[in-house]
Amino acid sequence: MAWDFSTEPEFEEQLAWMRQFVREEIWPIETIYEDLDRQQLERIYRPLQEQVKARGLWAAHLDPELGGQGFGQVKLGLMHEILGSSPFAPNAFGNQAPDSGNSEILALAGTPEQKERWLHPLLNGDLKSAFSMTEPNAGSDPTLLRTRAVRDGDEWVINGHKWFSSNASIADFLIVMAVTDPDARAHQRASMIIVPTDTAGVNIVRDVATMEHPQESFGRLGGHAEIRYEDVRVPAANLLGGEGDGFLIAQHRLVPGRIHHCMRWLGVSARAFDMLCEYATHRFAFGSTLSEKQSVQNWIADSAAQMQAARLMTLHAAWKMDTQGASAARADVSLIKFYGAGVLHDVIDRALQIHGSLGYSTDMPLEAMYRMARGARFYDGPDEVHRESVARRILRGYEPPADGVPSEHVPTRRADARRKFAEILEVVTAND
Ligand SMILES: Cc1cc2nc3c(=O)[nH]c(=O)nc-3n(C[C@H](O)[C@H](O)[C@H](O)COP(=O)(O)OP(=O)(O)OC[C@H]3O[C@@H](n4cnc5c(N)ncnc54)[C@H](O)[C@@H]3O)c2cc1C
Repeated sequence: MAWDFSTEPEFEEQLAWMRQFVREEIWPIETIYEDLDRQQLERIYRPLQEQVKARGLWAAHLDPELGGQGFGQVKLGLMHEILGSSPFAPNAFGNQAPDSGNSEILALAGTPEQKERWLHPLLNGDLKSAFSMTEPNAGSDPTLLRTRAVRDGDEWVINGHKWFSSNASIADFLIVMAVTDPDARAHQRASMIIVPTDTAGVNIVRDVATMEHPQESFGRLGGHAEIRYEDVRVPAANLLGGEGDGFLIAQHRLVPGRIHHCMRWLGVSARAFDMLCEYATHRFAFGSTLSEKQSVQNWIADSAAQMQAARLMTLHAAWKMDTQGASAARADVSLIKFYGAGVLHDVIDRALQIHGSLGYSTDMPLEAMYRMARGARFYDGPDEVHRESVARRILRGYEPPADGVPSEHVPTRRADARRKFAEILEVVTAND
């Protein structure tokens, strides 16, 4: 009987160190980030990254032969819960999205030369990368992608229009998803190709201003670039995996990536929850502190229950991934993707609500958290698509009742039961 929710003491010690490190060394960066240029930010990060490496926590998502720690998804999940509390923490631990996912792609599908040229410097923090898949006309249904890569001798020639390629405006290279065979079956049409950002024809038009970052500002960490690829030529050897493997590789990247997202959201939710509870204990209105009001108590209890449910569901999906592989965990990961995004939204919303105008102001981090949280309901697959996928899998286990009568129809079951127990019922009736 193995059914265990405990963490090994050595790893618990690492988690405790991370909690303190992130709170003391990373959270302060949030308040001055807007005043820092890239060099200053790098100078702050370097010594922090050294400490993380010395603790053996750098790039924990990758195998030891690639300079990582080979943590499974459960350990990674517990770690991401802590790093998620600040958007600046993953960069100190060598697992900043999209570099972390891209390093997984390179580890999975890269040739030894591609690993040497792109993966190792990426892991050292010497290069930055972006993942360029979404197009203005194709997002959650990637079979609609139009960006084309055509083979011309020893080169791929890429033409297309992408947007929301996160970090592309500061990246050294892009992993571009492009259609290499438009006549192939829908999920075998596209391939991934490495494109150095300084290649002629890579035109980064702008960093799209968003709800999270409403002021358009080009070339900052976390920007989402619009890119036109205009006759971009790269060596044929820049293809990742085989031709037509794009979707297959993307799935391998997305399944663990969603577990990490969900755990990071729990880190954000926990921070909002602490603000909610702290404020409830001292804000006074209508004869008592807010903590005495039943609706506030309901918010606190509901938030605690939702976070606990999301945490257990996510760690269970991580455990399934570790023990049975990505395919077995797909349905669980879809479940947590939309459920976790909903919990994130609800907890932040309640924390913001209790703070009133203070919560709405930029004097508290809640309004920024709220704006960030909104995107979680559609990036990496909208809620509706994940719900649909979960429901479809569940429905595979059902079929319509043969005679059109629901299996649980009470009069039919009663008639069946009467037949089953006819003998006993007759005796009882006879004794009456
Ligand atoms: C913060 C952020 C970062 C991102 N980073 C990257 C990145 O680095 N690289 C990259 O390539 N992309 C990135 N994206 C893009 C992201 O992957 C897409 O937003 C996502 O795939 C959804 O595509 P879409 O926005 O085009 O929405 P669409 O596909 O147009 O969907 C719009 C809406 O239609 C509805 N819908 C869609 N399908 C269904 C269905 N089957 N049933 C019911 N309703 C449905 C949903 O409500 C959905 O929200 C990022 C997006 C955000 C917000």
